[in-house]
Amino acid sequence: MSTVISSVIKLAEQIKIFQNLKKTIAFVPTMGGLHQGHLSLVDIAKKKADIVVVSIFVNPTQFGKNEDFDKYPNTLANDKYLLEERGVNVIFTPSIDEIYPKGYQTNVEVSEIANLLCAASRPGHFQGVVQVVKRLFELVKPNVAVFGEKDYQQLLVIKDMVERYQMNIAIISAPIVRETDGLAMSTRNQYLSKQERQIAPKVYQVLEQIKKSLQRGESINTVSTQAKNNLEQDFKLDYLEVLDANTLKQINDNTTHIAVLCAVFLGSTRLIDNIVFAKE
Ligand code: AMP
Repeated sequence: MSTVISSVIKLAEQIKIFQNLKKTIAFVPTMGGLHQGHLSLVDIAKKKADIVVVSIFVNPTQFGKNEDFDKYPNTLANDKYLLEERGVNVIFTPSIDEIYPKGYQTNVEVSEIANLLCAASRPGHFQGVVQVVKRLFELVKPNVAVFGEKDYQQLLVIKDMVERYQMNIAIISAPIVRETDGLAMSTRNQYLSKQERQIAPKVYQVLEQIKKSLQRGESINTVSTQAKNNLEQDFKLDYLEVLDANTLKQINDNTTHIAVLCAVFLGSTRLIDNIVFAKE
């Protein structure tokens, strides 16, 4: 049976109990609207610790002014059902006031990675992400936290945060869970019209093509230009980049893994996806 907790004080009491019992805690932060991608993180979390805590909190500080904060899908009853069924111990569903009480101020430092890629069209996004994840980590006090590779840039920003603030938390990354046609699962896929939903898997197809072409030895420039032209037939391209997977900088002799990262708009829906593979 999952315990649903909304108050920070109640959560602190529950965490203390786990700590007194010498239980290890794995944490999965989410914004709700749960799908199989989120649940795969829960399954990994269960293998990594005695207790699994999942938070459901749509964090206002990571949304831009004209973004979808107000219409972000809320499927709380179903989310609770799915998490309970998955054997989650604590479902933390705080209000905005619990996370950011009056007068609460934090000035978070972020890695330079936070200023690349998604930051151009979502300025301040990763500052918001780091702010909320730092706060949630301080409340949940996990030994381990699980993040999806779907948000690859976010994963690197969080890894940097843990080092920067010397938090003793192991960050585990989870592979992208996809629909059968290759589209990366996302809460925002609900926004797509029937027609858009048919077009959306092209993003992953293009990423796969890039990977194959690069593995055949074609040049990054040629391959990315072709891919951009191809994507622009159906999407408004935000970015498509082929980078060092560890640093998100240009590929060089020290690069061991390549990341191809992409963000597009389909109508008003922004889709992100990526593919990471070893450099041969
Ligand atoms: P969100 O609720 O969108 O903030 O996502 C919560 C966590 O789930 C993040 O660590 C995401 O990277 C992860 N996640 C979202 N979609 C997927 C997916 N399709 N596969 C794997 N992880 C995912």
